[in-house]
Amino acid sequence: MPKIIFVTGGIVSGLWKWVITASIAKILQSAWLKIWVLKMDPYLQVDAGTMSPYEHWECYVTYDGWETDLDLGNYERFLGTYLSKKSNVTTWQIYLSVIEKERAWKYLWKTVQIVPHITNEIKDRILEVANKNDITIVEVGWTVWDIESAPFLEAIRQLKRDLGRENVFYIHLALLLELDFSGEIKTKPIQHSIIKLREYGITADMLVCRTSKSMSEKIKQKISMLCDIDENSVIEWKNVETIYEVPEKLQEQNVWNIILQHFWITKNINLNDWDEVVKKIKNPKKEVNILLVGKYTKFDDTYKSVLEAFKHAGAELETKVNIKLLESEEIEKNPEILEKLKKEWFVDGIIVPGWFGKRWIKWMMEAVKFARENNIPFLWICLGMQVAVMEFAKNVCKLEDVNSEEFDENAKNKVIALMEEQKNIKNLWWTMRLGHYEAVLEKWSLAYKLYGEEKILERHRHRYEVNPAYHKILQEKWLVLSWKSPNWKLVEFIELKNHPYFIATQAHPEFQSSLQKAHPLFVGLVKASLNS
Ligand code: GLN
Repeated sequence: MPKIIFVTGGIVSGLWKWVITASIAKILQSAWLKIWVLKMDPYLQVDAGTMSPYEHWECYVTYDGWETDLDLGNYERFLGTYLSKKSNVTTWQIYLSVIEKERAWKYLWKTVQIVPHITNEIKDRILEVANKNDITIVEVGWTVWDIESAPFLEAIRQLKRDLGRENVFYIHLALLLELDFSGEIKTKPIQHSIIKLREYGITADMLVCRTSKSMSEKIKQKISMLCDIDENSVIEWKNVETIYEVPEKLQEQNVWNIILQHFWITKNINLNDWDEVVKKIKNPKKEVNILLVGKYTKFDDTYKSVLEAFKHAGAELETKVNIKLLESEEIEKNPEILEKLKKEWFVDGIIVPGWFGKRWIKWMMEAVKFARENNIPFLWICLGMQVAVMEFAKNVCKLEDVNSEEFDENAKNKVIALMEEQKNIKNLWWTMRLGHYEAVLEKWSLAYKLYGEEKILERHRHRYEVNPAYHKILQEKWLVLSWKSPNWKLVEFIELKNHPYFIATQAHPEFQSSLQKAHPLFVGLVKASLNS
């Protein structure tokens, strides 16, 4: 029988349920169990590709080319393994599938309803992965109070009947409220959250309390009594220095044992390797300052994977990586800002992550010029690489009216363009290069030195490419176009000769960095920045 852990949330959203999901997945993975994680997102989109970076943070991409919620990235960074499009279920995917089946007469003479048709579809999606793994952890997005969550909660309740009580385990995460004017701890919201869950017929096996202070025994006993949950299964989740510490904190409270006993599994866990890396994050020996010039810098989570990749690289090099976010608009308002930051904030390295849209391209090009001319180590990702090519074509190759076809179809020198094969495709989604693509690296390139391999796979999320008509002229002047994906002859990396660290990639390397396997391009940037 498949074994499934369900993680729900209550009272408020934004408690970072994913940290609990990912940490439990990590702990159980360390017992040599085959683990899978699935996120159910109640929003109405089919995928996260069309969501605003301001509203819904980063859009993550799986290796098989699915645009998902950033939580999948969080899980992968903990597990160090790849999940797939099967790990992301949204309301609209479920409805779309039911509607398609209805049109194909699969439910002939039946009334198609939320229960059982929508709920069955949800259950099928869960069981599809659960049947192939030892333990599957399903995070139900949003809170148990949201209307949109209802069909998901009904489906996960039914699975208890379908699979048997001993094969499902329900974890609820809720906020332990502290009244800031009196310092008093209030358990009533938690009690109500548990009552709400029970309205769906779900009894929590474990309650994780998000709290800023340590929980007293008395509070635990009270919650245990009033919520009808074993005292040992009332777990405290206090703020920690780094989220990567949470598995250890849960381990200390015996979370793994409670879950494995429930499932009748006898296994031991071993988080020693993981804890070693966490120790390195907490005790850095060196420090480095990296400037992130981006388009959406209001929320850290917009660049979640990039910021995490620096933590991983920092851990590997026992270095604290300080990141300063600079909105590219600032360069427009204050053209001296880069110079000023270099002097006053001691910029050691620069990164420009990917983005969509024309705004501020001109100022990003200024940032390229600044890093290029001042020999500052830098890494450019996706649109960042395209802008680097544009800057080089304009200022070094001295081409006139340089642009990307994305921004000016009539520009004289469209150094970034759609490939011929893409031109007749009308549906924008189909012109996207999404997911894993192979690149073959030249043996003498910096990229090869960093990766240590000739053939690599990186994740992509873009439409435009370096225009083949300009490969030659770019190469003459600089640029190591290192190198092209084998079939389409697409440029995957560019590098600048005679520069301490100048590398740009059309891919999104940040999606493949995990705590126990830092990404070579980020490690390379931090290393070069330490020497700058
Ligand atoms: N807008 C660019 C393209 O579609 C790059 C997108 C990105 O940075 N992810 O090619």
